Amino acid sequence: MIIEKIRADFPILSREVYGKPLVYFDNGATTQKPRCVVESITDEYYSVNANVHRGVHFLSQQATELHEASRETVRKFINARSTNEIIFTRGTTESINLLASSFGEEFMGEGDEVILSVMEHHSNIVPWQLLAAKRGIAIRVIPMNDKGELLQDEYEKLFTDRTKLVSVAHISNVLGTVNPIKEMAAVAHAHGVPLLVDAAQSIPHIAVDVEDLDVDFLVFSAHKVYGPTGVGVLYGKEEWLDKLPPYQGGGEMIQHVSFEKTVFNELPFKFEAGTPDYIGTTGLAKALDYISAIGMDKIAAHEHGLTEYATQRLKAIPGMRIFGEAGKKGSVISFLVGNIHHFDMGTLLDRLGIAVRTGHHCAQPLMQRLGIEGTVRASFGLYNTEEEVDVLVAGIERVSRMF
Ligand code: PLP
Repeated sequence: MIIEKIRADFPILSREVYGKPLVYFDNGATTQKPRCVVESITDEYYSVNANVHRGVHFLSQQATELHEASRETVRKFINARSTNEIIFTRGTTESINLLASSFGEEFMGEGDEVILSVMEHHSNIVPWQLLAAKRGIAIRVIPMNDKGELLQDEYEKLFTDRTKLVSVAHISNVLGTVNPIKEMAAVAHAHGVPLLVDAAQSIPHIAVDVEDLDVDFLVFSAHKVYGPTGVGVLYGKEEWLDKLPPYQGGGEMIQHVSFEKTVFNELPFKFEAGTPDYIGTTGLAKALDYISAIGMDKIAAHEHGLTEYATQRLKAIPGMRIFGEAGKKGSVISFLVGNIHHFDMGTLLDRLGIAVRTGHHCAQPLMQRLGIEGTVRASFGLYNTEEEVDVLVAGIERVSRMF
């Protein structure tokens, strides 16, 4: 993996902020876009644009072909069995809301239970709370140890005959913990319960194979995997998706409509009401092709090396506290230094050209568990370098001296 060549594919990486070279360590929030993704968006608007699925004319058919080819690219990328299992949404958040709504309507009632973990992003908590308010379901929470690893024994104990679904993050966006999804799916299945994986933070960083993991549902966002904003994916095993009612009503998701009765469309269109972001799905496919060409194993190895290097360098800073020291960890480092407020640290690092995230990272229950209000988070992408980590370390040391 030749890092200079990769960096040259991302024009934004050569810009400066406050007269300093940009060091972009906010990849957990969103990733930067390679030229091929941006160009696919402009090219399609300039030369193909037409609404998909409904047109007999040339452009509509070409746009439809591109959109459906993108579905196949996603299918291949996560190794799903069929494109019927790939639903395009607006992002991870919408994918989880879709499931909470449809799965909840079909399979969950008063007293039924969903199992989540203490390290979930709000988007994998609040939809279940909305369902709890509507249908009286209960939420059970898998606890973790101080290293940030989910307690598997406790997880097993949470199952009851009212458990209907498990929904957990593959990789924590705060701690970086890589949860043992394959094992957790096996436990859920032993209880006859399906498992939903929030793969927002894993898809960009490690190879994800839904067949191998044997998960029932998996969701992610294009913008976190070098693709455009506004597009996401819900993968679901066909046998589950077949049983779920539509999420929204409208065009595209129907086969026939009369005022007396509407026949819904088949998968995957049953869940895709209205005009999809067909330009965005092409962008997502370009992004997946881009990282596939580099190789997920190479990306994972590069980011792993970078995270090890950064962890070791950060730990040498006096007063450094790192949150999340799981045995298996992704490329996310959350930290605090002495009594310096995370917001002050983030603001001062920004002045040095370093983009990090500060705050609760949409995981307030996790912050409560850790007994803190927030952290500074550096999250790495495939284009980050050890030299940039050195700039971060020097920046933190400089800020520390000011306090
Ligand atoms: N889940 C996790 C683990 C995340 O890190 C994020 C975003 O930070 C989300 C869900 C929500 O993603 P989106 O805002 O793209 O829907």
